[in-house]
Amino acid sequence: MIKPPPLRNDCFALPPGVTWTPVDEALDLLRARLHTVVSATSGPLNAALGRVLAEDAIAVRSNPPHPNSAVDGYGFLGGIPDGETRIMPLCEGRAAAGVPFDGKVPQGSALRILTGAPIPGGVDTVVLEEDVTREGNEIALRGPLKQGANTRKAGEDVRAGEVALKQGTKIGAPEIALLSAVGVQDVITFAPLRVAIVSTGDELVDAGQAAAPGQIGDANRPMLSAIVKSWGYEVVDLGIQPDDPATIRAALDRGAREADVILTSGGASAGDEDHISALLRESGHMQSWRIAIKPGRPLALALWNDVPVFGLPGNPVAAMVCTLVFARPALASLSGMQWQAPQGFQVPANFTKSKKPGRREFLRARIRDGAVDVFKSEGSGRISGLAWADGLAELPDGALEVQPGARVTYYPWGSFGL
Ligand code: AMP
Ligand code: MG
Repeated sequence: MIKPPPLRNDCFALPPGVTWTPVDEALDLLRARLHTVVSATSGPLNAALGRVLAEDAIAVRSNPPHPNSAVDGYGFLGGIPDGETRIMPLCEGRAAAGVPFDGKVPQGSALRILTGAPIPGGVDTVVLEEDVTREGNEIALRGPLKQGANTRKAGEDVRAGEVALKQGTKIGAPEIALLSAVGVQDVITFAPLRVAIVSTGDELVDAGQAAAPGQIGDANRPMLSAIVKSWGYEVVDLGIQPDDPATIRAALDRGAREADVILTSGGASAGDEDHISALLRESGHMQSWRIAIKPGRPLALALWNDVPVFGLPGNPVAAMVCTLVFARPALASLSGMQWQAPQGFQVPANFTKSKKPGRREFLRARIRDGAVDVFKSEGSGRISGLAWADGLAELPDGALEVQPGARVTYYPWGSFGL
């Protein structure tokens, strides 16, 4: 397995003089600068669920491979004009799926044919069995029936030799169905992206661990692990690290050895205990992206021993929003997938809000009775609001007065791949 080259040292550099980067510009920068970092291997399709195609998958066979009947009925040659009644003798035998009729149906005769059966010689049209009367060895039917009715052409879905799925496609159940149908046995896919996750902060403990006064449960690491797993990547757990540069450094070193990308949370601002940003600034080509987004603090982007690091905010709500908005498309690019813009929906609001200009806002939201409700508090420490929500409402960068009934953009969690 040969690995693609690492990212460039200046890949997270911002244009000089920039103070607040709008969300769309930040996304454009990530899109332009990131590329696949995982290597490709060939393997059987049945082991490729969740993998990303490293090369186009070419159809080995056509779908359908041969012309066939779309219904249970009777096959013959030619259409029947409107109003015309036709009586036809039936040939001996029948055509069924997997059991072709190996003769030719004489002009003026019909043959019993079942769904999926290859269309035999002398047949180009099939009438539905419900549309005929049958008596002994004869059928009677009335037009109109178009020539070619109720038949499927060979290759009408996909032709042999065509690209069935493009490079960068993630293989899910529908893709497995398609590739199986067109005879693809082996696929060339990228190795799953390995994502190291670390929480930093003296105040953090794992659930179930004894908490000293002033300590809180680590919400980010379990949340980020769950998100990363939903996206089909592998998690490398770097644990909780105290606010101590030496231990955080060791964790980042391990992350860079064992993973393709590192997600940190906490310590990414410019305070006394913000060791992530200090360390990354010192030895990680760090750029602090002040993105015009709420909730969100500066996003620290860096390379640590050539491995990209996303320094997410400590606040769980901000960490989740920044992960879905920025880390999702970024990780997709690193993993070999095409750029991922979430699909939003315009839904009437069931709330009132006066939004100031300057930052794009994401609100914890859900749809009830066809309208978007937002969580009662915008406090970014309110983790319960994440669980209450079914997605996020997005309010644009500029000022906005939202009144009930006005349309807002809503992204269900599923739009972020959750
Ligand atoms: P920081 O970015 O380290 O200044 O953290 C901002 C806020 O998020 C503080 O209230 C932290 O206690 C909290 N926080 C940081 N990391 C986590 C975490 N992993 N789980 C829950 N809260 C956190
Ligand atoms: Mg902290």
